Amino acid sequence: MSEPIITFDDVSKRFGAVTVLDGLDFNVAEGEKVTIIGPSGSGKSTILRILMTLEPISGGTVWVDGEPLWHEKAADGSLKRPSERHMRHMRTKLGMVFQSFNLFPHMSVLRNITEAPVQVLKLSKAQARERAGDLLEMVGMSDHRDKFPNQLSGGQQQRVAIARALAMRPKIMLFDEPTSALDPELVGEVQEVIRRLADAHDLTMLMVTHEMRFAREISDRICFIDKGRIIEDGPPEAIFSDPREERTREFLGALL
Ligand code: ADP
Ligand code: MG
Repeated sequence: MSEPIITFDDVSKRFGAVTVLDGLDFNVAEGEKVTIIGPSGSGKSTILRILMTLEPISGGTVWVDGEPLWHEKAADGSLKRPSERHMRHMRTKLGMVFQSFNLFPHMSVLRNITEAPVQVLKLSKAQARERAGDLLEMVGMSDHRDKFPNQLSGGQQQRVAIARALAMRPKIMLFDEPTSALDPELVGEVQEVIRRLADAHDLTMLMVTHEMRFAREISDRICFIDKGRIIEDGPPEAIFSDPREERTREFLGALL
């Protein structure tokens, strides 16, 4: 097993008096495809939002790609508060796709995808357009590049959102229930794009979903989380066919 690209080391997260994560230890290896499952409110989105630098931690250390995420290494090797610059640098390692698409409503599809590469990565407009063109083709949206988000179906918007995240060439892609806001007939087209990404060897993927068949199909590993703790962690066959923990069994049973 290679060095983990994501490490949660004794991480806690509190919202006021509510403890959402309590001493969480969790690793993802480079290139691994991991799915987190678990009941609503168990802390799944919080884990992804911490990684995406959207939510600070209350304790412990998170490491991404060999560097501390919510800390910065001081000259003497100790961990100090991170600078804005460090956070910006860390953010470029990850891309995230949300349940609710979150495209920029006032920008065309093309502009949604080229904006960050131009602003953040300082690509030329031509370079960014070329990159966007390849990605639009990959997600089957080449014919829609000049449309605005409100002219697209949910499935189309989500495919653009995936292309937008990939345009930054992140090492890690985070998916938070990417199909749960979609009409049932649009779920398949988005899953198809994610499935294709899962075939990419070096891309690390961490996904939250309630689509168990899909999770089973694309994941190397499934983590069942309940109340901010990982209850069970293993290959999909083991978790779905023969869960060790009663709590996992109950959760999966309730979905049938
Ligand atoms: P999941 O994604 O597993 O449904 P979340 O990670 O979204 O769960 O939330 C875990 C817990 O943290 C829930 O009890 C939720 O109400 C609480 N929580 C999440 N975000 C906030 C916030 N910004 N302020 C207060 N409580 C929050
Ligand atoms: Mg959630």
